[in-house]
Amino acid sequence: MRILISGAGMAGLSAGITLGASGHEVTLVERAHHLRTNGSPIDIRGDALDIAQQMGILDAIKARQVTMTDRAQFVDADGNVVAELPGDEVSDSADDIEIPREDLARILHDALPPSASLVFGESINELHDDGDGVDVRFISGKQDRFDIVVGADGMHSLTRRLTFGPEKDYLKHLGFYVALTELPTERSTDRANSFLNWPGHMIGITRYNDTVLGVMNFRSEWIDYDYHDLDEQKQILIDAFGSHEEWRVPEILEAVRDDPELYFDSVSQIHMPTWSKGRVVLVGDAAHCASGLSGRGTSLAITGTWFLAQALHNHPGDLEAACQEYETAQRPYATRAQDSAGPGGDLVVPATQHDLDARNERLRRMARR
Ligand SMILES: Cc1cc2nc3c(=O)[nH]c(=O)nc-3n(C[C@H](O)[C@H](O)[C@H](O)COP(=O)(O)OP(=O)(O)OC[C@H]3O[C@@H](n4cnc5c(N)ncnc54)[C@H](O)[C@@H]3O)c2cc1C
Repeated sequence: MRILISGAGMAGLSAGITLGASGHEVTLVERAHHLRTNGSPIDIRGDALDIAQQMGILDAIKARQVTMTDRAQFVDADGNVVAELPGDEVSDSADDIEIPREDLARILHDALPPSASLVFGESINELHDDGDGVDVRFISGKQDRFDIVVGADGMHSLTRRLTFGPEKDYLKHLGFYVALTELPTERSTDRANSFLNWPGHMIGITRYNDTVLGVMNFRSEWIDYDYHDLDEQKQILIDAFGSHEEWRVPEILEAVRDDPELYFDSVSQIHMPTWSKGRVVLVGDAAHCASGLSGRGTSLAITGTWFLAQALHNHPGDLEAACQEYETAQRPYATRAQDSAGPGGDLVVPATQHDLDARNERLRRMARR
């Protein structure tokens, strides 16, 4: 089959590998002009590790593994440590693998089979499913026809909007925003990951290999902003953190101002009753974003695209049955991931000074045990 995949993030690249390896002719279009490699290290967990093995990429993943949870600590306004975060607070199992997002993106990219081609700077503009195929018009003006369109274009999926309707019908905002920025001038030899809180806010510094990231989280009601307007996103962060001068807040905000690749998004989930409609099927965050609080988004991207490729293989010529099998296999993983996203925000971004003091006291008690 001729398959179009919209988005070359973790889900799109995984789909490119598994669908390409199944003998399909795959075209991936990525709106950005390059592989989007920024972001903090991500976890690969549970069955996604077995699938990575079957995809032939597990050894490469293990070779790039990092440990971020060593010496994660909360500091006060002067940088003094007030509590430490034990590794088992943030990890499910010792078998989990944490890998820089950029390394996983490159491993997946390099594993794309020759039957999968990737076009950067391209995006769907319109699609029309007539039952026998999907006619697609791209923003470049090109037109083509595909047997299936796979929407792997993330939480704010355009494919989902064009096929299933407005984002607000599926998005559940969990009450937080997250941002990541690279700190290119950081010279410190201290390897600790340090975080400063004040009620409803967290700002910190994390490190892996030679990379140093500024990370920000804050609690907020839903904010309407343009996902493509980086300056607007920077202003939201400056409004949220800019009145604070303590610790390294000014330095992190300076990096935000200068960062052309800032990552900023709401911490939200996508809940859909079904992930396919006609010849369009959604995978990854587009279908079932569990939010960064779950730590399972990438694992879901890997399992889901694997199940989709298997289902298409098991039901040649019967797309409805294939999509049904894909959903049945993936739904329990998505539900578990979404259900697990609850308490992480209270740990990292306590809402009040009382909650903040209680969190620190709880962590200090755990450390004394
Ligand atoms: C730059 C970036 C940084 C991230 N950092 C973190 C992080 O630090 N921690 C964390 O937990 N999660 C992070 N995420 C989210 C995480 O990658 C996903 O939750 C998870 O890996 C599932 O991947 P996905 O491929 O479904 O979605 P995503 O990783 O969001 O990938 C979607 C891809 O689709 C592309 N795209 C979007 N719209 C279009 C369009 N109209 N046409 C073509 N392409 C389009 C995007 O550019 C992106 O490459 C980040 C995502 C991105 C894009």
